[in-house]
Amino acid sequence: MNLHEYQGKEILASFGVRIQRGIVAHNAKEAVDAAKQLTAETGTGWHVIKAQVHAGGRGKGGGVKIAKNLKEVEEIAGQMIGMNLITPQTSAEGKKVHQVLIAEDVYYPGDSETSEFYVSVVLNRGTGKNMIMYSTEGGMDIEEVAESTPHLIFTEEIDPSTGLLPFQARKIAFNLGLSGTAFKEMTKFIASLYKAYVESDSNMFEINPVLKTSDDKIMAVDAKVSIDDNALYRRKQYSEMRDLREENPIEVEAGALGLNYVDLDGNVGCMVNGAGLAMATMDLIKMAGGEPANFLDVGGTADAKRVEEAFRIILKDKGVKAILVNIFGGIVRCDRVANGIVEAYKNMGDAMNVPIIVRLQGTNAEIAKDIIDNSGLEVHSAVQFQEAADKVKAVLA
Ligand code: GDP
Ligand code: MN
Repeated sequence: MNLHEYQGKEILASFGVRIQRGIVAHNAKEAVDAAKQLTAETGTGWHVIKAQVHAGGRGKGGGVKIAKNLKEVEEIAGQMIGMNLITPQTSAEGKKVHQVLIAEDVYYPGDSETSEFYVSVVLNRGTGKNMIMYSTEGGMDIEEVAESTPHLIFTEEIDPSTGLLPFQARKIAFNLGLSGTAFKEMTKFIASLYKAYVESDSNMFEINPVLKTSDDKIMAVDAKVSIDDNALYRRKQYSEMRDLREENPIEVEAGALGLNYVDLDGNVGCMVNGAGLAMATMDLIKMAGGEPANFLDVGGTADAKRVEEAFRIILKDKGVKAILVNIFGGIVRCDRVANGIVEAYKNMGDAMNVPIIVRLQGTNAEIAKDIIDNSGLEVHSAVQFQEAADKVKAVLA
């Protein structure tokens, strides 16, 4: 589950990480009130208006702007809220901005003593360990740095049995070229950041930039946080931060039905039982010259109701030109699944408007094939994997 910048910063602050202070606003008036409050609390003269959407690269897309006075706060916030923000990380339509963060300006104009670093904590799935990635080249061009000068990005792996050790935090601060107060501040920053990551059950905390001010304070200016969905049951305070408006609406609906659904860009919808078989089915579609439109694991029960729900979810994606059903019938016998598919198809009437290829394998597979073939519906049956692939190819041609 991804969070907004302001939510990530809230979590950081609760673990003692210094952050650029800010207040969320939903309209221009709230923005002006927030700016006044920030000036009273921090003494800041200028403010930064930051679009709160689940996408990076906001600075490049006009989603981060400086306001030099309250009139500018009002104008910029008024214009930003409601706009579709397009950044290098959004689709061409962009993302609708529902709220902005009014933040204190923490960069002093003409100040050459400030530096922007990059620091993130992520799970390295290859080694099964958390790692801290960091670079002196923080700021808006980090993707470019990673691409053309990857040696400027360092990593530090954390042993899960010991956690972050003090020498590792010092090594990071040293490699970032810091000394004196800034060095000490950075070791504290790294330790608190790592604690925030672990104790919130996150799989990513990316802080870019981490700012060193000219008076040697180290603070988080941005925060990109992703919390492990599987841990949300025990992190209620964070699960309440979910903003469904930022998520794919079909995935949200499928999730509510208990379907494991991931929306993809292709033209062949798939309905499969079991995650491994679903992955193999997506390969099969590719080999047949199609592109999977989704990943969908319907789980253990493939009765008529379940199949119909799954068909309806798949067909919400208008790019779907055919559906491949690939079900292994073990305890759920294939003939029962076949009857379920036929019944679901009939219930859907005109809503079912693409050809369906059904491959049922396992108990009573041959009986199931007869049920499909004799249904009189536009359903193509297959028993073998290759046969199913060929039929997908034929309906796409
Ligand atoms: P992103 O582009 O979505 O990653 O958004 P960020 O929160 O990282 O902001 C983009 C850039 O805006 C940063 O890299 C900073 O250079 C700049 N920025 C952020 N806060 C301030 C601020 O308080 N003052 C000034 N002058 N620039 C800021
Ligand atoms: Mn950033």
